[in-house]
Amino acid sequence: MQRSCSRSPCASRGRHDLEPPREQNDYLRCSLGSSNAMLIALFADVHANREALTACLDDAAREGADSYVFLGDLVGYGPDPVWVVERVAGLIADGALAVQGNHDAAAVDDKQTLGALAHTSILWTRKQLAPAHLELLDALPLDLHEDDRLYVHASGCSPQDWIYMLSAREAFQSFRATAQRLTFCGHTHTPALFNESATSLPHQHVPVDNMPMPLLSQRRWIAVLGAVGQPRDKNPAACYALLDTVSNRLTYRRVHYDVDVTARKIVAAGLPEVLAKRIVLGA
Ligand code: ZN
Repeated sequence: MQRSCSRSPCASRGRHDLEPPREQNDYLRCSLGSSNAMLIALFADVHANREALTACLDDAAREGADSYVFLGDLVGYGPDPVWVVERVAGLIADGALAVQGNHDAAAVDDKQTLGALAHTSILWTRKQLAPAHLELLDALPLDLHEDDRLYVHASGCSPQDWIYMLSAREAFQSFRATAQRLTFCGHTHTPALFNESATSLPHQHVPVDNMPMPLLSQRRWIAVLGAVGQPRDKNPAACYALLDTVSNRLTYRRVHYDVDVTARKIVAAGLPEVLAKRIVLGA
């Protein structure tokens, strides 16, 4: 299994106390040993939602996942940024991969542009996080390559520009920007699947929940995973995906969790109430 990243975040910027210590976090230097993973669980847009992430991790464990990939936006909007960053840091220490999302970047960089609601929540998030949490978010790469797969938050085309993969147009741009056959991303909070062949422009599909989808090898694919912590497709159930690298099938999973618990925490934290309404509605 080969892994690489397009940006080394590992220039010595000082140690932090969270696991994994940067000097040992070799995946960030693109040299993690082979995991020979057969069932990869892919998570995007956790957004500091402890209950949703816990439910998805439990579901992935029941399904037999043996590898984990996080596709950005660990924080922002949700009430548990510290817990989520520390949980994912622990998984990274055990070999999970993670890339940076725009909210992760905004937590450490004032120059990132966010909408008003996102900006309000990221200011709150920044106050909750210790320097060690911020260092971990800052150290995440924008993208990672593993075998024939690209992991990125928004698009393979200019990952730092956070382009939303909303249509065949953006899929076309992303396909042109990478040689990888499979791209996995998030950012839109809405599940979608694009494919193209040597003779066709990208087609867009709406994935069917819990239905294994063959990623035919003569085609290239972009899987937009939907969101663990803040779905926007009118379905409040947490969303993640399982990739079977042996059968070459991808399954979008929807996992119910107690949304009201998270909504109450959002209100109690003093975050904008509309964020609580959004996760209840999946909007
Ligand atoms: Zn997001």
